[in-house]
Amino acid sequence: MNSSMIRESFPVGPLGCNCSIIGDQKTGHCVVVDPGGNPELIIEKVKSMRMTVVEIIHTHAHLDHFLASGILRTAWDVRLWLHKNDLFLWRAVELQCRMLQIPKVSMPDPSDWLYDDMALSVCNGICLHTPGHTPGSVSFWFEQDNLLISGDTLFQESIGRTDLPGGDHRAIQNSIRERLFSLPEAALVVPGHGPETCIGHEKQFNPFVQGLF
Ligand SMILES: [Zn+2]
Ligand SMILES: [Zn+2]
Repeated sequence: MNSSMIRESFPVGPLGCNCSIIGDQKTGHCVVVDPGGNPELIIEKVKSMRMTVVEIIHTHAHLDHFLASGILRTAWDVRLWLHKNDLFLWRAVELQCRMLQIPKVSMPDPSDWLYDDMALSVCNGICLHTPGHTPGSVSFWFEQDNLLISGDTLFQESIGRTDLPGGDHRAIQNSIRERLFSLPEAALVVPGHGPETCIGHEKQFNPFVQGLF
């Protein structure tokens, strides 16, 4: 089957979070993943892709992944999706602003809850619940396009930290072993920060997951 996906991924916000716009050329619809800052830039990219945003989805509720979500929700009149287990972090937005040393922002609550195996509205994607970095961390898997958005669960040759509130080292190891390393070796991985990689490369070279599979 020919892919109808178009995608742009680019770093935004105070910690260089990789934001992705994933669009389906058949429908003209796209989702925005992790708009962690630079709302004007994200709006421009969506325009240049000639797409209509249907929802904003989040891999987890660290502020560097949703700093622009309130502004974009208003700009596009769309819903904000998050795994419910991260609601306590989302609501701690003021504390997170202090930690990032940025001015306070007001943030509407998420509108809807992501859950394990939930279907996304573009490109036959699904949500994988991959807790550990946070209790509500999820990854987004697009089987047809062999693409994984891994949030802060899996990075190129690293994994997400688990020493922040709600972090769980054993859980992140289980998530990576059971949910991510069962994907095809050739699957492209777009992590929450830093360069893209693939599942096979991480199985071979990621020092944090050796002996896990
Ligand atoms: Zn994070
Ligand atoms: Zn992050």
